[in-house]
Amino acid sequence: MLAPAQAVILRNLQFQYPGKSAVYALDIPFWSIAQGDHLFIQGASGSGKSTLLNLIAGILIATHGKIEVLGQDLARLSPAKRDRFRAQHIGVVFQQFNLIHYLSVIDNVRLAAYFANKSLTQVTPQAERLFAALNLDKSLFAQKAEQLSVGQQQRVAIARALINQPKILIADEPTSALDQANRDRFIETLLMLSREQQTTLIFASHDSTLAPRFQHHINLTELNRNGETQHVS
Ligand code: ADP
Ligand code: MG
Repeated sequence: MLAPAQAVILRNLQFQYPGKSAVYALDIPFWSIAQGDHLFIQGASGSGKSTLLNLIAGILIATHGKIEVLGQDLARLSPAKRDRFRAQHIGVVFQQFNLIHYLSVIDNVRLAAYFANKSLTQVTPQAERLFAALNLDKSLFAQKAEQLSVGQQQRVAIARALINQPKILIADEPTSALDQANRDRFIETLLMLSREQQTTLIFASHDSTLAPRFQHHINLTELNRNGETQHVS
């Protein structure tokens, strides 16, 4: 099968949170990102960045319109197939990292491979490569996630997101807990690993000063037709 040229295509996407019946959180006529691109999504707090990333990851489902990820219409997959699709093709780094605190570092990473049906024998060497690239010492493998510093947790979260060599890496405000020096290093590492693995990177932040580091930028406030004014009929 030929790989589609676009990693993500949105067509007439509208999303409304249940209960929030007055407005669409998102209303985007058309938008796409090519495979392998590195995209920065800027938008003020509340502009819908997390909503959009959760839709692309198939965690939320569009109210109207269509989302194609790697040529697959997400709404046509059953919830179980959608979870499998995400585990296999999409890596996610959240603002709070969402590591499982009582599990060891390596078990956090292994769990992601398990959900993607990957053979566990491949996980340790791949984790070792990622940890080396992320400048994390191997001695951390056995430590509980809760014992790590914020900077270490963040790097483990990247290792977990990349362990299955996903086609798409989604990062939602991943640098907000970091100081300037760690933020710069983090973004450089993310870009380097994305280039190496030919991963499409979708990085969202309210901080517009990060934009110049990325090949492409969009402003969600401009892309999103909604606003507080567009009411759902
Ligand atoms: P951002 O990530 O850019 O800060 P969000 O996607 O979190 O923006 O939020 C977009 C809009 O959707 C906001 O108005 C927010 O209040 C609303 N919203 C976000 N999550 C929920 C939810 N679980 N239930 C209802 N409304 C939500
Ligand atoms: Mg958000």
